[in-house]
Amino acid sequence: MCKVIAIANQKGGVGKTTTAVNLGIGLAEEGKRVLLVDADPQGSLSISLGYKEPDKLDVTLVDIIELLVNEEDVPAGYGVIHHKERVDLIPSNIELSCVEISLVNVMSRELVLRSFMEQVKHNYDVVIIDCMPSLGVMTVNALACADSVLIPVQAAYLPVKGLQQLIKTIYTVKRRLNPKLEIEGILLTMVDHRTNYAKEIVLEVNDAYGKTIPVFPIEIPLSVRAAEISQVGTSIYDYDPKGKAAFAYTALTKEVLNQMEG
Ligand code: ATP
Ligand code: MG
Repeated sequence: MCKVIAIANQKGGVGKTTTAVNLGIGLAEEGKRVLLVDADPQGSLSISLGYKEPDKLDVTLVDIIELLVNEEDVPAGYGVIHHKERVDLIPSNIELSCVEISLVNVMSRELVLRSFMEQVKHNYDVVIIDCMPSLGVMTVNALACADSVLIPVQAAYLPVKGLQQLIKTIYTVKRRLNPKLEIEGILLTMVDHRTNYAKEIVLEVNDAYGKTIPVFPIEIPLSVRAAEISQVGTSIYDYDPKGKAAFAYTALTKEVLNQMEG
C-alpha cells in the first residue's frame, strides 16, 4: 500500500520543501520506493534536488496535468527523473501557475492529481507532494489525493497564527472530497533552541493544537547547513550527515515510518 503525504502550509518559507527533500530521501534510505512531486510553480523542490533550471526541463507536472485534463493516458514513467539519492522526482516550473488558472474551467478540477496518483501509486511505497504557499486549486488537488498532510510551521509568531485557515481548509477537503485525509502532524521547523521565544512558541503550538492535532515530538532546529542544501542539490544526510538538522530529519523519518507501519 502506497501512502501519499502532502506537505502543505499557505505561509511561505516555513520549511515545506526542505522537509519534502529530507523526509523523502530519508524514507528512501530506509528502503522505501519514494516519489517526490513538485506542486509549486517556483520549482523549489526541483531546484533543491539539483535541477537548477526547471524552466528548461522538457516534461514536468504541467504536461502530465494537460494529458489528464484531456483524458489522455499518461505513459508509464512519463516526466519522472531519477535522483542519485534513490528518489524519483516529478518536477515543476513556472508554467504550473498557468495550469492553475486553466483548471478553473475543468470539471472535477480538484481531482486531477488524484487520477494521476491512481496510475502511479503501485510503483511506490510513498509519494510526497511539496505544495506551494497558497490554498489554491493545486494545493486542494494535493489534499484531495493525499492520505495525510504534514504541516511544517516555522517557530515564530505570524506563521503560527496562519495555521487556523490551513486547518479549516484541510477539514473542508476532508468533508467534501477526501474523507480518508488525516493530519500526519504539525512539524515545528527552524527552531532556535537558544532563545526562550522559540521555546514559548513550541509550547503555544502544543497548547493550542496538541489536543486535536498531532504535533511531532521532533523539532527541526534552525541550521545554516539545512539552509545551504537547496544550493547543493543533495539531502542533509549527504551534505552534513553529523549535524543537528540531519539528526532531526532522521528522527522525523523514523516517526513517519512508524506511523506507516504501526
Ligand atoms: P515556500 O513557501 O516558498 O515553498 P517552503 O515552505 O518550502 O517555502 P523552504 O524553501 O523549505 O520553505 O525553506 C525556506 C527557507 O528557509 C529556505 O531558504 C531554506 O533553505 C531555509 N531553511 C529551511 N529549513 C531550515 C532550517 N531548519 N534552518 C535554517 N534555514 C532553513
Ligand atoms: Mg517550497
